[in-house]
Amino acid sequence: RYYFDHAATTPVAPEVIKVITDSLTNDFGNVSSTHFFGQREKLKLRNARKVMADEIHADLNEIYFTSGATESNNTVIRQVALKRANEGRHLITTSVEHPSVLNVMKYLSEHGYEVTFLPVNDTGAINLNDLKNALRPDTILVSIMAANNETGSLMPIKEIGKTLKDHTAWFHVDATQALGIEAIDVKELNIDFLSVSAHKIYGPKGIGFLYKNQKLVIPPLLLGGEQENKFRAGTTNLPLIMGFEAAMKLCTPKNEQEWAIIYREYKQIIIDELKNSGIEFEINGDLDHSLPQTINLWLKDIPSQVLIPRLDLDGFAVSAGSACTAGSAEDSHVLLAMYPDNLKRVRESIRISFGRDNNKNDVVKLAEELVKQVTHLKQKGQ
Ligand code: PLP
Repeated sequence: RYYFDHAATTPVAPEVIKVITDSLTNDFGNVSSTHFFGQREKLKLRNARKVMADEIHADLNEIYFTSGATESNNTVIRQVALKRANEGRHLITTSVEHPSVLNVMKYLSEHGYEVTFLPVNDTGAINLNDLKNALRPDTILVSIMAANNETGSLMPIKEIGKTLKDHTAWFHVDATQALGIEAIDVKELNIDFLSVSAHKIYGPKGIGFLYKNQKLVIPPLLLGGEQENKFRAGTTNLPLIMGFEAAMKLCTPKNEQEWAIIYREYKQIIIDELKNSGIEFEINGDLDHSLPQTINLWLKDIPSQVLIPRLDLDGFAVSAGSACTAGSAEDSHVLLAMYPDNLKRVRESIRISFGRDNNKNDVVKLAEELVKQVTHLKQKGQ
């Protein structure tokens, strides 16, 4: 079987499994305990936090471990809204965010806040002028993802950061898909909050972190003990944090640059095979402004609901949209935002996302399989 759905989640790297297993076996102490065992684990926690901080050029005390990007996103959006309710009740986001941003924004818009959902163009990016026009004196938060999980499209984070520099709105970035692939410097990019997750970088599920600019204060989402500098209650999950640390260490700039070249080559293999076989298709988004590992294709006249199960039966796992909405009959909100007048395109698109476990041969096989299925379905008049 071949796995081409790394944007949904990645297999856990063997090095990471070893670290987690060792930690589960040996690091049973509670990080909050004052005795030897607690202090020993505390040091390990500090080291892991340092690795995260260094990755995004943050300070040690700006990293808070959470259960993943969903929790990080919820914490920022809900708690900024709560903290700043008296200063303003307007928030800005985009129409293509992950549900863990969109649904929190929708919730707020039903509870006394106003939310602007910025449109995107057909490459999947917002127009900077739309953001400038949407900003108001009462805008308290702008939340925009670094890279989209369905198309890999990149947002102009640097320009957004510059735009917000002199504004009172705080800037949150959901960088879950970009972590370990795109270099992130929160200070240079003027980012106030950043959410990420370990399971997109060959780490375990259920662990992530939130970066929070130390100058900004928001109340905790989870109340309880004093863990994570009183910002995130709950007994510290050291084994998963250490697994995250091991996964993060595998994302060296050199490794990632090498993988980026390989993934772009994989994309080209798929594109060339489809072209050579005369199959009609278009790329959703922009190849030059997207994550190297993700490609979203419109295969004309081939409904993804029909194609994807057939690929799966033959052993190839790809997806129609994000895993969070897959399985529901809902059309992709991301593709709908990019191509609002073309429901056919939305329903005939698939996402392929590569990972370290894919080799060139696997990709050639996938390309051939795509041609085989599309040709068959066309003949059937699907
Ligand atoms: N944000 C984006 C862009 C994602 O791709 C995901 C992935 O599932 C999430 C948030 C949610 O992350 P988690 O699974 O850690 O809650």
